[in-house]
Formats: sequence, structure tokens, C-alpha cells
Amino acid sequence: MAEHESLEFGKADFVLLDSVSLEEFMANLKLRFEKGRIYTYIGEVVVSVNPYRAMNIYGRDTIEQYKGRELYERPPHLFAIADAAYKAMKRRNKDTCIVISGESGAGKTEASKYIMQYIAAITNPGQRAEVERVKNMLLKSNCVLEAFGNAKTKRNDNSSRFGKYMDINFDFKGDPIGGHINNYLLEKSRVIFQQEGERSFHSFYQVCVCVSTRDLPYTTTLRSNAITVFLYLSPCDLSQGNLTFGVDGDTTLIENSKVVAVIGDLLATKEENVEKALLYRTVATGRDVIDKQHTTQEASYGRDALAKAMYERMFCWIVGRINDVIEVKNYDAKVHGKNTVIGVLDIYGFEIFQNNSFEQFCINYCNEKLQQLFIQLVLRQEQEEYQREGIPWKHIDYFNNQIIVDLVELQHKGIFSVLDEACMNVGKVTDEVFLQGLNSKLAKHAHYTSRKLSPTDKSLEFDRDFRIRHYAGDVVYSVVGFIDKNKDTLFQDFKRLLYNSSNPVLKMMWPEGKLSITEVTKRPLTAATLFKNSMIALVENLACKEPYYVRCIKPNDVKSPLLFEHERCRHQVEYLGLLENVRVRRAGFANRQEYPRFLQRYKMISEFTWPNHDLPSDKEAVKRLVQGCGFEHDVAYGKTKVFVRTPRTLFCLEEQRDEMV
Ligand code: ADP
Ligand code: MG
Repeated sequence: MAEHESLEFGKADFVLLDSVSLEEFMANLKLRFEKGRIYTYIGEVVVSVNPYRAMNIYGRDTIEQYKGRELYERPPHLFAIADAAYKAMKRRNKDTCIVISGESGAGKTEASKYIMQYIAAITNPGQRAEVERVKNMLLKSNCVLEAFGNAKTKRNDNSSRFGKYMDINFDFKGDPIGGHINNYLLEKSRVIFQQEGERSFHSFYQVCVCVSTRDLPYTTTLRSNAITVFLYLSPCDLSQGNLTFGVDGDTTLIENSKVVAVIGDLLATKEENVEKALLYRTVATGRDVIDKQHTTQEASYGRDALAKAMYERMFCWIVGRINDVIEVKNYDAKVHGKNTVIGVLDIYGFEIFQNNSFEQFCINYCNEKLQQLFIQLVLRQEQEEYQREGIPWKHIDYFNNQIIVDLVELQHKGIFSVLDEACMNVGKVTDEVFLQGLNSKLAKHAHYTSRKLSPTDKSLEFDRDFRIRHYAGDVVYSVVGFIDKNKDTLFQDFKRLLYNSSNPVLKMMWPEGKLSITEVTKRPLTAATLFKNSMIALVENLACKEPYYVRCIKPNDVKSPLLFEHERCRHQVEYLGLLENVRVRRAGFANRQEYPRFLQRYKMISEFTWPNHDLPSDKEAVKRLVQGCGFEHDVAYGKTKVFVRTPRTLFCLEEQRDEMV
């Protein structure tokens, strides 16, 4: 019996469950995990459970099994999805994308790497040197990005602290000829603060291990990193110590001033300029420009902001450098035909922590956007195809989360707008003012509430709390820090300092430093606005592609290969909307194939079609074949394609085929 129908391993597709209930879903997920079957489909969506152990399912032999196959022909696997995306791109000239979601430690980044490895393995049969070069770069870029963008957290020893979207471009032959990476919201606060049991970005330790402080490395990235190591307390011994501030009478001063010389050296700028930028702020008062001394608190704030900003710019610069070497070169669409794209999105999943702040708010907004895209693409795609093929469309009831997307991003009325307004307030700029703004603008909104609006609600413990009803569940946010994180201020003095560095790369990273204080007129865009714009651009980019989904689940919090924590998994199944996904899928058709293709694959199971048929059309022949097998109740006949409602029918056809060949 083919594995996909063997009960021993559970149902290979959740659509095959006898009834769609949470209990049945969970039982199947658990059974498959325990049997080492970490992948299961919902139609064309792959649900993956992190095995937390090396699986012997990614080798060359497995790749060969999936190459060029249809989804249902082999047991569920990431390779099948990668192949489906690749085939759609190659056969139909479609841009496709693979969206990988799930919480931290669920296995997204590993999945994205396996997908890329698969694509690299099945392309370039001609071994063209340039294509090999590109493939190599694409695969190796991961390692660099992980060094600078990943860190050990309590949830994941190698946690990506940024969102990543990578396009791979293909030529007319279907071989990779380049790519492009977009990065989103690096968690730069990690540079200055790590919770107990967590670490800063891997690169810090790599710098510390590889070089002694005396002969710090020459390359610009390591240099920048070394500076942030100096600016901020790092767990490795730095003989120079951390940069701290103290007071002498009215004067703020740097306590360990030896560090300043080292920083000056690393920044390729004068020591006295570093000291001045750390202790003073140039302000314009009317026509006069004066140097205002920082308090120790302001100086510490400035130091932290500088460390965070330098690290972030460096990270973006590295991404830019990678893009320079992987971008498509010498490709003339007029000569070679359209170049097509597969995008891979590895982005933070929905987050609900004990204490949720601005970062969680942004991340959860991102997930609302992706859910909205999922609804639009999956349902729209289905609807359009049914119309084209002349098959009646049945309306499916689902929760449309557009209302929550609007709650966050709508101009003037949305939470981001209220936040930006609060930040621009001429009077008091505090988190409380922001919360008041929310309460007055959103008091009646069905998905918003706060302690003030619902004083008896027990989940809202503190005055600073507000709550959003997300599609994936309720999240209580604390307003503390929203204003500060949104303004994300870096004093102009630092920008000028870095712009005036004699190191050309550092200089290039800080073009705004060119302006003197009297020339700075525009406020920099807020963190919320920048994030919103990047999300809108991301969604626009994904919306014009054919999507494939991987939904990752983390089975336990202790990285154990044996433990399936029921409650933990149930929660993820719920907020990933997987049951709803199964319902949508069951209401529609699991599979559709053009008549000639269907015949080619299954003609051997019917005497009317083997080896050839004498019916007036392929459509008639398919009808005859399906009738012969007794599946008429489960299929519909479109203009060019046959639609199969349940995967079970397909699996049965596959089995009969297996028996014949
Ligand atoms: P995420 O990106 O979702 O935060 P990762 O992809 O970094 O999670 O996975 C976390 C860890 O789980 C990995 O470092 C690895 O140890 C383990 N892991 C994830 N996926 C697999 C897999 N397919 N096979 C074996 N181990 C895995
Ligand atoms: Mg990751």
C-alpha cells in the first residue's frame, strides 16, 4: 500500500480527516510526529513540526524522488512544495513565492534553507559556471546573514532576529541567475540589552574569539562591530571596559576615557570629536547654534542609540553588499525571454509574550497583513479559476481580518497614525498621551480595548495596558516604550561624526550626517511608518506571485525530539488558522489537472483509454475513465481541466496506477 494511504502514519493530508474537529486534527498531527512524519498537507499547504533531531530525509536520493513529481505522488515534504513552485514557474512562466510562517524555533529558517538547497540541486543540469557561481552565493549568503542577524535566545539557539525575503531569479531555462534579499526590522535593541539566558548577535562572539583586541580586524564590517562591542558592555573581556559616564560638579564626563581613543581609531576620526559627540548636543536656538551638555542619562541614551544604529546600518550594508554580488547581471529579456522569480519569505510568526511591546505589535501587524494576503490570494485564485473553467463557485464563510489591518494602518484613524501624532505632539510626549489618543479614537472599535475602557476586565492588569483582538487571538500590549521606540532618535551629532569619518565605507553609511544642525529640517520617518511602508511593499510584491505556504509548528519548549506538548501545539494550530484552512480546502477542489495531463498519468487504469482512446476529445476520455473508477460524484469537468474534490480520490487513482505499472 502506498504510504500516503497507510493508516499507520496517520492521514497525509488533513483534508482527509473524517470530520474537521480540533481533536481529530491534533490526534493526526501527534501520531505523525511520533511516527517521524514531520510533514502533512492541507491541500497545497505544508504543515511541518520541528523534529529537533537530524532526519535522513534531505539527501540526494530524496531530492531525486521529488524532482518533477506532483504533490500527491510522494509523501508530504518541503521538497514537494519547492518543486511545485519551481514547476509553476518553469512550465507556466509564473512568478511564485513560498511563505514560511510559525513562531520562533518552529523551524522556518531551516525549512527555507532546505528549500533553497532543493532548488539549487535540481537546476543547472548543464553545469554552467556562472549559474554555479550564483547558486553558491545564494546558499552561502545565509551563513553571513546568520552571523550578523541571529542570536541565541531562550526559544532558539540560532534565532533569526530579522525578517527575510529572498527572490531567486531564473532564466528561460529555469536556472538561477541571481537574487535579491530584503530584510525587515532587525531587533537592534539586542545590541545593548539581552535577557538572562540570551546572547547578543553571534558576530560579537565571533569577533571576540577570532581576534585579540590589540589587532582588531581591518574589514569595515568587523570594525563597525568592534566599535559596538566597545560602546556597549559585552560578555567577553575587553581590557578597556565599557563606556560609562559620570559627573564632576556640573560637568558630565566619560569615566573610562581611554576607550574614547580606541573608538576614535576604529571610527577613523579624531578622539576629541568622539568625546564631543558623546557629551554634547548641538542645538539651534533661533539664529544661534550652541553646544548643550548632556546629562549622564542623556549621554547614556545617546551611546545606546549610537550602538544600535551603527549595528543596524552595518547589517543593512551587509545585505546591500550581498545583493551587489547576487543581482542579475547581463540578462537581456528581449533576447532571453522573461526572467522569472521564486520568492522565499522567512519571517517572524505571531508573538504573544508575558510582556508585549512595540516590537510584538509590529510583528503581529505583519502577520495580520500576511493573513489578509492569504485570504485574498487563496480565495481569489480559486474563485477566478472556477469562473474561467465554468464551474459553480460556492461561497465559503471565513473571518476576514481586513478590519484589524485597518485598525493598525489606516491613515489618521489607525494605531500607527495615533502613535506618530503623539510623537509629534508639541507639548508632552509620553506613552500616556499616546494611550489617551488611542482611547479617544478607538473607543468603539470592536477589536480594541484598554484598561480605561474595560476597567473590570481581568486580562488588563495595568493602566498602561491595551488589548487588540487579533485574528490569531487576543494580545495585551503595554504602551511603555512605544513613543521612544517609534521616534528612534539618534542625535544629529553622531550622524555628523560618522559622516566625517575618513573611512569611506562608514562615511557612505551615514549620508544624512552631511547636514549641519541648521540645515536639518525634516523629521526622520518614524519606526512605525518605516515598518508599515516596508510591509505594504512586501505584500504588494507577494500579491503578484503564486503563493505556496509552509506552516511551522514547535512541538515543545525544551528542544526535545520526543515531546509533543498538546496544549502548546493546539494553541499554534489555532492561531495559524489551520482548521479554517482545512475547511476552506474541503469546500473547494483539492486538485485540478488539464485533461491531456490527467490522461497521460492515469490512462493505464481504464480499458477505454489504454493505450489510446477513440473518444472525440480528451475531456470525454477522462469522463469515461472517471466513471469506470466510480469517482463521478467527486469530480467536476471544467473547460480545460478536470477538478477533483478530495485528495482521497487522487490517492486511489495513484494506487491503481501503481498496481498497473
Ligand atoms: P525558526 O527560524 O522558526 O525560529 P529554526 O529554523 O532556526 O527556527 O529552527 C530551530 C532549531 O530547530 C534548529 O536550529 C534545529 O536545531 C531545529 N530544526 C528545525 N527544523 C529542523 C529540521 N527540519 N530537522 C532537524 N532539526 C530542525
Ligand atoms: Mg529563523
